[in-house]
Amino acid sequence: MDGQRFWRAVVMAMLLAAWGVCPPARATQADSRPPNLIIIFTDDMGYGDLGCYGHPVLDTPHLDRMAAEGQRWTSFYTAASVCTPSRAALLTGRLPVRSGMASDRRRVLFPDSLGGLPQDEITIARALQQAGYATACIGKWHLGHREQFLPTNHGFDYYFGIPYSNDMDNVSGLGGFRANYPVPQVEYFNVPLLRNTEIIERPADQTTLTRRYTEEVVRKIEAYREQPFFIYYPQTFPHVPLFVSEQFQGRSAAGLYGDVIEEIDWSVGEIRRALEQWDLADNTLVVFTSDNGPWLPYREHGGLSGPLRDGKGTTWEGGMRVPAIFWWPGQIEPAVIREIGCTLDLFPTALALAGVELPDDRLWDGYDLSPTLLGTGPHQRDEMLYYRGTQLYAVRQGPWKAHFITQGAYQGGAPRQEHDPPKLFQLDHDVPERFNRAEEFPEVLQRLQALADRHRATVVPVESQLEKR
Ligand code: MG
Repeated sequence: MDGQRFWRAVVMAMLLAAWGVCPPARATQADSRPPNLIIIFTDDMGYGDLGCYGHPVLDTPHLDRMAAEGQRWTSFYTAASVCTPSRAALLTGRLPVRSGMASDRRRVLFPDSLGGLPQDEITIARALQQAGYATACIGKWHLGHREQFLPTNHGFDYYFGIPYSNDMDNVSGLGGFRANYPVPQVEYFNVPLLRNTEIIERPADQTTLTRRYTEEVVRKIEAYREQPFFIYYPQTFPHVPLFVSEQFQGRSAAGLYGDVIEEIDWSVGEIRRALEQWDLADNTLVVFTSDNGPWLPYREHGGLSGPLRDGKGTTWEGGMRVPAIFWWPGQIEPAVIREIGCTLDLFPTALALAGVELPDDRLWDGYDLSPTLLGTGPHQRDEMLYYRGTQLYAVRQGPWKAHFITQGAYQGGAPRQEHDPPKLFQLDHDVPERFNRAEEFPEVLQRLQALADRHRATVVPVESQLEKR
């Protein structure tokens, strides 16, 4: 740079600084310590159940605002279409078929189950705890209710919540559907509420769960504010039976389901408020997503999968594509992200943000999403594997999805059917998976089959924990 240009640059920089144009130096906690992480994981919320995902009636202002300020992903998936394997995948970054958390006979854990997430699996909580994070799990666990499997034995310093689904321990004498719909009662479900490993209430008063979960999360944010923390908040709802606190009863034009979603939205708003109150928002990544699609047979007590086909329990898009919002003011590039993401990716993303190396003693199924979140590099994931139990039913690469096997959603869906040749859908052109293109694009089909074969070769059968009782 010649002398004249140098001085011109100096004068310009001084003028910009005087006008306040130059960004202030970022002297925040981000410089000195790794970011906090909060994962909010709803149960059975569908792709179409938020205002920002197109629901015409539901009022979700807090989540809509966080989506606008952060990233709203439109091709984000859960790794399984039912509760237990979905949670195992999120927390371990590994497909449930690798950890024994998948089964073709019993798809989730029940109160009579003896199994749980094996001790040699590493959860996000365990990895971050070892890196000096404070960790808490507040909500529905569903990865084993015997003491050795509870959150406090899987890397969490603290646990408050119910150990399995809120419709279990049905003591009403009514069948599942009749107990859950249309007017469930708290006393129908003898579900325990735990603090750490102790039962503190039984049956849990489900009408106050969302409020109490929220208070617990807010309290932990305050308690942990001087150190990096990870709070995992797996919501009990909108899984049936639906319950809300008095304050939210009858509020939503969308009925009881709407009341439940609006209380969850309030809960998210309270968490945001706590982060802002303690000046932690610019050093905390908040992730909001769902464990699987909506439970459709429960009529208006089940949610909506929006334009997607089918719901909970299936490998059609409605079972596994879920809402996903990432919020981290000042760090995340606000955008709508159409690239593929998966709950499996939260493990490597969390470790990358915390500056922790992935252990090299096992296979991982996730990708680090931080380049996409922070705008620092190319997007990593271009494919999706759709499992039902231990079997690979479908694969996606880019916009193309091949179904080797299809089976409808829980209770009343279409029966299991193998497809040879597989069915092929172009998901960007055909969001609801209606038009089979297999005959027109044999080379695409071949590519997807090769992807499935390469993946299958990496899977070693393990004993299922879900079948032990
Ligand atoms: Mg679920």
